[in-house]
Amino acid sequence: MARHLITSAIPYINGIKHLGNLVGSQLPADLFARYQRARGNEVLFLCATDEHGTPAELAAAKAGKPVAEYCAEMHEVQSKIAEGFRLSFDHFGRSSSPQNHRLTQHFAGVLAERGLIREVSETQMYSPTDGRYLPDRYIEGTCPNCGFEDARGDQCDNCTKQLDPVELINPRSVISGATDLEMRETKHLYLCQSQIKDEIEAWIDSKSDWPVLTTSIAKKWLHDGDGLQDRGITRDLDWGIPVKKGEEEWPGMEGKVFYVWFDAPIEYIACAQEWVDAGKGDDWERWWRTDKGAEDVTYTQFMGKDNVPFHTLTFPATILGSGEPWKLVDYIKSFNYLNYDGGQFSTSRGRGVFMDQALEILPADYWRWWLLSHAPESSDAEFTWENFQSSVNKDLADVLGNFASRVTKFCRSKFGEVVPEGGTMGELETKLIADLAEKIREYEAQMEAHEVRKAAGALRAAWVLGNEYLQEAAPWSTFKTDPEAAAMQIRLALNMIRLYAVISSPFIPDASAQLLAALKTEDDGWPGDLDAALSTLPAGHAFEVPEVTFRKITDAEREDWQERFAGTR
Ligand SMILES: [Zn+2]
Repeated sequence: MARHLITSAIPYINGIKHLGNLVGSQLPADLFARYQRARGNEVLFLCATDEHGTPAELAAAKAGKPVAEYCAEMHEVQSKIAEGFRLSFDHFGRSSSPQNHRLTQHFAGVLAERGLIREVSETQMYSPTDGRYLPDRYIEGTCPNCGFEDARGDQCDNCTKQLDPVELINPRSVISGATDLEMRETKHLYLCQSQIKDEIEAWIDSKSDWPVLTTSIAKKWLHDGDGLQDRGITRDLDWGIPVKKGEEEWPGMEGKVFYVWFDAPIEYIACAQEWVDAGKGDDWERWWRTDKGAEDVTYTQFMGKDNVPFHTLTFPATILGSGEPWKLVDYIKSFNYLNYDGGQFSTSRGRGVFMDQALEILPADYWRWWLLSHAPESSDAEFTWENFQSSVNKDLADVLGNFASRVTKFCRSKFGEVVPEGGTMGELETKLIADLAEKIREYEAQMEAHEVRKAAGALRAAWVLGNEYLQEAAPWSTFKTDPEAAAMQIRLALNMIRLYAVISSPFIPDASAQLLAALKTEDDGWPGDLDAALSTLPAGHAFEVPEVTFRKITDAEREDWQERFAGTR
């Protein structure tokens, strides 16, 4: 039994994510986790919310809540939505957990001992009125480029120019509106990534099987300009993990916290500790420490392309720099972006479908199927309602759903709700089984290669074989002249429904469970020997005609949704 550690990039805490976020990390990670479990392998699948940093503070202030309370509430909201999409995390943790506090402080302490952290003096905007330093996003003023009066400290939303807060004309505090801002000296810690550059590069070069999207982004950051730069790992904020050297105070760093990018990936490890502390597991080290059992673990990460630099360079710099035997990632699967109906998803303009809204209008499987079968792998992909309607109606309703419905209803009308007996298989069946075996082996190979779209394509092709067989065998005609042969055809077709339920479960878990329940079987073992798999339900086995597995999306619904999610809010 192989052991798979799987993590999804952790979603930021402020607000509900859109379908593009879902398909860029959590959903394909879930697909892979479900597939590996279905193959009988041992899986630890982890995700969490990323809770620190300025955007969380600002969102909490906007909601009129203390930031800790805001994060706790939003974690619950995201957790419920993840359940709605059937994301099968073994644990959904929080980067603000006590476990992550301790571990982040531990890594900082070890890195400092090894001479990989240095102190840098900087000047930063300070607001005497607010009694605090103000990060970029806490400062607004007039854009020096276009004259827009509400430009942010990091960027002007009007002309998109990247800004430094000192460039703003008439800068003011976002918190209080105070204008008596001044530049003050402050000290920060930097992680000396440049010192570990060669080690990181050698490690990336050893990963010859990584997707080009992943390695090309990593190489660009390693070599562009002056090469890999040291990065600040602390901030003058209240909300975050206090800067400590292990368990010791860090002189000169009082009142500062670690920068969110430093503590967020460490949460992957802390999340496994949370999983144990929540009573769901008993040993996190055998997944994360190569000196304590993790040397045979295969670790796969899933993320959008914007997260690749953190996962190929900065998090490995933390791990390699520590000199401790932590498990490094084996494979990084990254995704391009999903666009929405001729543009981009936009949170601020309410453009596109967000995860909570999606579940209000259709069950999770409809979205899972479309998103995964159109995953933005080799290039950006686009969600359109026409494509969604056509994919759901054809693949799910006409092909898979219709096969299950026709077979079970025909059986009920001619033989009753029981697997019929009699008849022997002929050439047509031998060919069908060989074709099915070929598609399933291809499906397995694509899944092992993390090729999401191609895996969906092979699965769809396996479904299509069922309908083609029904057309050709035509049991409704056979029944009139040779009822025994029709019984054999239907017995085989009922077993194919079970087979489809098993192999489709990583994509569409609810439909899979519904079909297995209708067939009154709990045998969901992966089909190794297809002949055996297709005789699992013996003659005489009782079943029920399932409820409609997938319904069609009407033109009226499509038009209604298109208008509703076009964005204005
Ligand atoms: Zn501007």
